[in-house]
Amino acid sequence: MKEIKGITFLLLILFLGCTKKEKDEKELTIHMHFRNKFTYDENWPVAKEAKRFTGINLKGMNKSGETKSRDLFEVMMSSNKYPDIVAGDNLANSFIKYGEQGIFTPLNSLIEESAPNIKKFLEENPEIKKAISNEKGDIYYIPYITSGETAAGYWIRKDWLDKLSLKIPETVEEYYKVLKAFKTQDPNGNGKQDEIPLFFRKWQDLLSLVTLWNGRSSGTRGSLSFYYDGKKFRAGWMEPEFKEGIKNIAKWYKEGLIDPEVFTRGEKAREILFSENRGGGTRDWFASTGALNSIIQEKNNDFLIIPIAPPKNIVGKRVEETRRIKIRPDGWGIISYSKNKLLAIKYFDFFFSEEGRRLANFGVENIHYEMRDGIPKFKETILNGDKPVNTFMWDIGAQIPIGFEQDYEYEKQWTSDIALKGIEEYQQNRYFVDLDPKIEKNLEYVEAYDEIWPTLNYYISEMMIRWVLGEGDVEEEWEIYLKNIDNLRGNELINILNSEN
Ligand code: CA
Repeated sequence: MKEIKGITFLLLILFLGCTKKEKDEKELTIHMHFRNKFTYDENWPVAKEAKRFTGINLKGMNKSGETKSRDLFEVMMSSNKYPDIVAGDNLANSFIKYGEQGIFTPLNSLIEESAPNIKKFLEENPEIKKAISNEKGDIYYIPYITSGETAAGYWIRKDWLDKLSLKIPETVEEYYKVLKAFKTQDPNGNGKQDEIPLFFRKWQDLLSLVTLWNGRSSGTRGSLSFYYDGKKFRAGWMEPEFKEGIKNIAKWYKEGLIDPEVFTRGEKAREILFSENRGGGTRDWFASTGALNSIIQEKNNDFLIIPIAPPKNIVGKRVEETRRIKIRPDGWGIISYSKNKLLAIKYFDFFFSEEGRRLANFGVENIHYEMRDGIPKFKETILNGDKPVNTFMWDIGAQIPIGFEQDYEYEKQWTSDIALKGIEEYQQNRYFVDLDPKIEKNLEYVEAYDEIWPTLNYYISEMMIRWVLGEGDVEEEWEIYLKNIDNLRGNELINILNSEN
């Protein structure tokens, strides 16, 4: 009996010892809600591994669930209940704005004294240092740095081109002829005119076809937005080239070259129309579109979709209206009232170390990836898993909008050779549009944008649908359209964007 008591006592001491040790464990709190959906989770394998490396337990402190990340952020900022760290997407200007108000701490001296990896990175990348600093040179956040520039591109059915003895279209006229042939010459060979030459997962992407008539519809991540011409912000959807473009898009739609269900088909359009052997082409992201070849070929041996250069437009230019931004307006900053600023900057610094960067990009070594010849390689189970690699990474807490540098190797490993060839071609020939990081930053910063844009965007979208469906005549209605945009304060918004620039 005594012995048992003794053992119990011993166990108790051991247990208390453990509890004590856990109490000594360093802890930081974080507010992180991003893409209106995801919440920081300390149980993510990546978060646990970061804790193992740094000895720091980072604890989420905001509520989860699908809601506007921006709203949650603003509520927290006005609550006076601050965490140590705030992270998320589209916060760059908020870090600066609230930093200048004293709520986020300037990181410059913390970096200088206690973050050797970040310090080295910023010394090696002065343009990034400049872009994240305010006018006084203060840095209030560590950004999410992406890799690669290409986003979407043109894709076409090579097996259909071959079947109809057609060449890859080089110009907008040739592109039209190819789509027409897809529509009328039965490339899927079932004797029915059921082909859909051109389709889109998001109908707004259809508007980018105006670049074929030298117009512009966007210049940021989203479709239908503003673009930057090197000097100022412009609204492509108010310009005569756009009018010409949308007229021609309506014509193509009427002739059945564009998916009649383009406004309703949705996210699964590629899988559905390609596996039914009815889809002829699209404009979409490289990695995920290229990945469809091996999937569809299991059922249809001949199936082959390839990326092509954007057809030369009416003034002979090849334009792809998407591009990735190197410095995303995402990342993390430290609250100035935090008692753990030093610990926080050390935690930030870890993700710029070799191990930290690998963790943020590929997940946990030997579980999600393994090192081969000095290169982290995803495990087969992840490359051939039941969800895309990027989705998988988000679910384990990798590739999320904290301050880290993306490694292109991460995406390259699940990008097919066909897609990689396309990416290389777009990259070498610089088909994509010029982008100014200020656009995304400014849109977030300008309060008038939140006030004016939703209504304006709704109106423009309604008119686009009307015109493409042929319910109204572009030429006849253009002037009234411009007038309505003005009434909805479109011109005012552009002036504000330019004055803030
Ligand atoms: Ca057919």
